[in-house]
Amino acid sequence: MSASRILPSAARFRNRSRRAPRPAGALRSASPHPELALYFDAMFKAYGPQLWWPGRTRFEIIVGAILTQNTSWSNVERAIRSLRREKLLSAAAIEKVPFDRLAALIRSSGYFRQKARKLKAFVDFLRGQYQGSLDHLFATPTSVLREQLLAVHGIGPETADSILLYAGRHPAFVVDAYTRRILERHHLADGRESYDQIRRSFESSLPADPQLFNEYHALIVHTGKHHCRKRQPNCAACPLEPFLPNEAKP
Ligand code: SF4
Repeated sequence: MSASRILPSAARFRNRSRRAPRPAGALRSASPHPELALYFDAMFKAYGPQLWWPGRTRFEIIVGAILTQNTSWSNVERAIRSLRREKLLSAAAIEKVPFDRLAALIRSSGYFRQKARKLKAFVDFLRGQYQGSLDHLFATPTSVLREQLLAVHGIGPETADSILLYAGRHPAFVVDAYTRRILERHHLADGRESYDQIRRSFESSLPADPQLFNEYHALIVHTGKHHCRKRQPNCAACPLEPFLPNEAKP
């Protein structure tokens, strides 16, 4: 992925944001928030492209999005390596493999029986609704597919949006704990917002560009891991420090 496709998106928005009025208060509604484009620019300038998602195929990305629930990515990588070694990284193969064998192969990702059930549920859905075709799946309009994914066992909003964005290249913004933490520390949210309120606020503040959303979420994760830690955030070295309200500075 090159920065050349990302940067014009941010620049487009940056120009728009200069004209837009700054809304007061937190993200209690899904109203646009012009500062969010400036946050992207600052993080992108500091870190550059993040090259997400680290998956070789769309199906592997979907598997990763399900397995990464409540665990670290290194644990997911071990599980995916096991599935690859056994040639199970396809919907047809996951359909056929016995449940207990699948669960054993993904043990490293934690909650492995639950996650095996979720993988089976996803491939059942794909077969039942789309004849097993990811092309057909991702040809569905974003809002329709999002609702369908949310109805599949074990797929919540963050997983659904990760699948839509990273596997399907749909313009769905992924909200995670780092997103909430950064917004709350910058007084752009107060912890009472629903997942969808935060998602819609990003989506209404930025151009509907999947590559921009891809980079944005990856940059938030990078910032969260390296600076905006749960305890003792390292604001001094963080690219978002200029946006930190004075009263929030450590
Ligand atoms: S400036 Fe501080 S509070 Fe803001 S994102 Fe960076 S580390 Fe977190």
